[in-house]
Amino acid sequence: MGKLEADVIIIGGGASGITAAAAAAEKDASVILLEKGSTTGGAANMGMGFFAVESKYQKAQMVDLTKEDAFRFFMEYTHWRTDARLVRRYIEQSASTIEWVESMGIGFLGVYKYFEKSKQTWHVVKTQGSNAPAERAASNLFRALTERAEELGVKIMYQTKATKILAENGRVTGVEFVNADGESLTAECNSVIVATGGFGDNPKMIAENMGYQWGKDLHSFRIPGLVGEGLKMLWDLGAEKTAPVMELTYTTPGVTDVYKTLSETMRQPNLMVNLDGKRFINEEIMNNTVFTGNAISRQRERAAFTIINDEILDSYRKTGLDYITFHHNIKQVDKWEKELESYLSGAQAEESGLSMLHNEEQKQPDNLFTAETLEELCEKTGIDLESLRKTIAEYNEAAVSADNLFFKQHRYIKALKGGTYYAARHYPAGYGSLGGVAVNDKLEVLNPGGKKIPGLYACGTDACGIFGDSYCFYLPGNTMGFAINSGRIAGIEAVNYIDSDEFVE
Ligand SMILES: Cc1cc2nc3c(=O)[nH]c(=O)nc-3n(C[C@H](O)[C@H](O)[C@H](O)COP(=O)(O)OP(=O)(O)OC[C@H]3O[C@@H](n4cnc5c(N)ncnc54)[C@H](O)[C@@H]3O)c2cc1C
Repeated sequence: MGKLEADVIIIGGGASGITAAAAAAEKDASVILLEKGSTTGGAANMGMGFFAVESKYQKAQMVDLTKEDAFRFFMEYTHWRTDARLVRRYIEQSASTIEWVESMGIGFLGVYKYFEKSKQTWHVVKTQGSNAPAERAASNLFRALTERAEELGVKIMYQTKATKILAENGRVTGVEFVNADGESLTAECNSVIVATGGFGDNPKMIAENMGYQWGKDLHSFRIPGLVGEGLKMLWDLGAEKTAPVMELTYTTPGVTDVYKTLSETMRQPNLMVNLDGKRFINEEIMNNTVFTGNAISRQRERAAFTIINDEILDSYRKTGLDYITFHHNIKQVDKWEKELESYLSGAQAEESGLSMLHNEEQKQPDNLFTAETLEELCEKTGIDLESLRKTIAEYNEAAVSADNLFFKQHRYIKALKGGTYYAARHYPAGYGSLGGVAVNDKLEVLNPGGKKIPGLYACGTDACGIFGDSYCFYLPGNTMGFAINSGRIAGIEAVNYIDSDEFVE
């Protein structure tokens, strides 16, 4: 192999890396992209769409949300603890990114919410020949970006793992990597963009940085290969480490993602208690899965239970579920019996794609329970019986008067009065880590003194500190939105740096 060199080397070809590659190549830079897997798109191949504001889809659907609204909302939500200039730039660019990818042949089904109270910002990618929402629809987008990058001459090296970023006199000069043949090589460059997707597949880093024990009190997706290599390379080079967080949600291991009707029914805003038998949440907010994940994380053993009975199931049979999500689209409980029988028989449904990424092994301890009495329920779940009795009495009282504890809206309070009980055990889950390195609004990587390391950029999950302590579920499509838009900014800025007076060869 001849000498490898490029203006820009990108480490990681996921959502942000492939976008950075196309953006840098459009500015006439020579680009090498190192991807240790066999495809581009990374975790985002499993997603459906991304965030934008003031797009033509929002105009067409009469969505009342301006860039100013989104900016104000974002900054209020994060208490101004995040980089306002970066947030502003991301929001400003987001609608043009929709048009940019459309120029590559990508279409959108339209713009959607995650839940009733969220904003309508999720631009769901259209799968060719279909008008139905599809899990993994976003993979089309990364195929198109890859084609664009290749047309522009980007050299994509698959099964190639970057191992070290090289620097001389404080400026980056190249990358060491191991190629598909197992050879250790070096490529020279003027600028490096790190886009390796965080450490969602690294339980040790999760424990060290966030305190969760994966598989015990956290059941997050583990997208193979996202083990924090990019962050470690950045920290080794003297980049400032920032506190990463989990893109939190919640799950019932072995049920969510496998038995959709059981799962969606047990995620309705019904009584939720902790192991002490106490309510700790206004269950009305359960459709904000981030807030629910946060609240569950605070409980003993980080476990929580929703409890319903036959009467509640019957009410859903008559009127349908209260909360419906666009992507799961479960409105009725017609498959309840079939799924319950399958779950309780231990058969476990055929693995439905995403579940394996939550659960290392398909077979999980029981997390869905049936019981004829409260005694039996508490014996099976470990919930404190006396306390649960008291909680249910209060809850049933609230059903006829008012919830004086957490002010839950009356229409969501369904009394629990005997019959067969059903309970689901929920744990914190998540899509992966967020953040870990300090960047500025050009996605330049900063040292602990707040000064940039010339030629060094980070984007996507590795650099995603814009949500503060909790992912903003109110503005749907935000992590992929940030990945794509930060990748685009990093690609542009890495080339601007090389073209600037600041750059000396
Ligand atoms: C099931 C699922 C559904 C999702 N749906 C949505 C959605 O609809 N909307 C939304 O906004 N977000 C969604 N997300 C989140 C979204 O996928 C991420 O925000 C996005 O993929 C982050 O992009 P990234 O470029 O930072 O990382 P990734 O896309 O994960 O890419 C990282 C890449 O780096 C490569 N890599 C790692 N280390 C190295 C190394 N040392 N050398 C070379 N290559 C390396 C990896 O192989 C990978 O290809 C979803 C996530 C999951 C798991």
